[in-house]
Amino acid sequence: MSKSFISKLPDVGTTIFTVMSQLANEHGAINLSQGFPDYPCHPALLDALARAAAAGHNQYAPMAGLPALRQAIAAKLLLSHDVMVDVDQEITVTAGATQAIFTAIAAVLHAGDEAIVLDPSYDSYAPAIAALSARPVRIGLTAPDYAVDWDRIERAITPRTRLIIVNNPNNPSTSLFSKADIDALAAIAERHDLFVLADEVYEHLVFDGREHCSVLVHPQLRARTFAIYSFGKTFHATGWKIGYCVAPPDMTTEFRKIHQFLVFAVNAPAQHALAEHLADPSHWQGLPTFFEAKRDRLAQGLTDAGFRLRRSRSTYFQLADFSALGSASAQSDVAFARWLTIEHGVACIPVSVFHADHREEKLVRFCFAKRDETLDAAIMLLSSIKQ
Ligand code: PMP
Ligand code: GLN
Repeated sequence: MSKSFISKLPDVGTTIFTVMSQLANEHGAINLSQGFPDYPCHPALLDALARAAAAGHNQYAPMAGLPALRQAIAAKLLLSHDVMVDVDQEITVTAGATQAIFTAIAAVLHAGDEAIVLDPSYDSYAPAIAALSARPVRIGLTAPDYAVDWDRIERAITPRTRLIIVNNPNNPSTSLFSKADIDALAAIAERHDLFVLADEVYEHLVFDGREHCSVLVHPQLRARTFAIYSFGKTFHATGWKIGYCVAPPDMTTEFRKIHQFLVFAVNAPAQHALAEHLADPSHWQGLPTFFEAKRDRLAQGLTDAGFRLRRSRSTYFQLADFSALGSASAQSDVAFARWLTIEHGVACIPVSVFHADHREEKLVRFCFAKRDETLDAAIMLLSSIKQ
């Protein structure tokens, strides 16, 4: 007799990113939903990958990551954030940020612990916490500013709270933490002895001269934080699924205990290629200029189509308020996103799915990491909404 299966995640379905990309494919819609570029990554990166494979780098890489890649990451952190990181004890290369997030959560949380998550939040955080028999305590921030009320966060802390997860720059709000936010986070983490998971995968996609205040530059925070990054975002290669986690030696030791049994080691030729590619800072320093032009192009089209915008500050997403779009605005954001995909041929993501309470704010998210032709074709289709 077979045992009945008791789901650890009974409320979890297929992620909205997969759902909307599938819907876009089914209806031949332009896919501005799931966040991935539709243009090729840098030819030098592809060339480096081909050379690495041809040179025979096709067997297991070291568990913590290729030393050359960890050295290149440390050099980059010095250049971009002016922080010194121990190559051997503080950097672990992971199979994308998603695996690093799960690994860090698994390393910290015990059954029954609580972890604070700020909504809107990336879809993997809460299920990862729940899968580990811990409890996500989700606190909703409010559009359009998504300012963090740190007193409210502190009031949500209980003796079971062990971790707070922050995503800065934020997907999908595009908001950024100020220096005061980082100081407040550090003070709370210190007072309540919390670990911090800082998802900083969009660290270089910050616009209009704004600065990204990384947790790594704050000495007290750095001492209790897993800071997580993704080459998929930085090098236009989401399919490579390679990222890394920076954490103090004692935390890295625990992180690697989980990492070694989850993936053991990460794709070897791709690590060689990334080590080479990181050596040229121009490969990431030009990202704001590159994406600002795309953001402005899409923002103009969305505004002309009747959406209301708070211009994107970071990431490669633009939120758009559809409440002024006549009869279409009566729909929920989930229904609107489906309708836009099926009836107007442009796919987007409803923002309520990033909130535990699924609050209705009449907001959808568009990805502008697309060729200009793709954005122009989408804008053309969107212009038909008002007619
Ligand atoms: N965190 C955030 C905020 C994201 O938007 C994403 C998706 N790109 C990830 C983590 C996952 O990154 P990766 O594809 O490297 O797993
Ligand atoms: N991070 C991407 C987004 O926000 C999607 C990643 C995924 O599909 N899991 O669109």
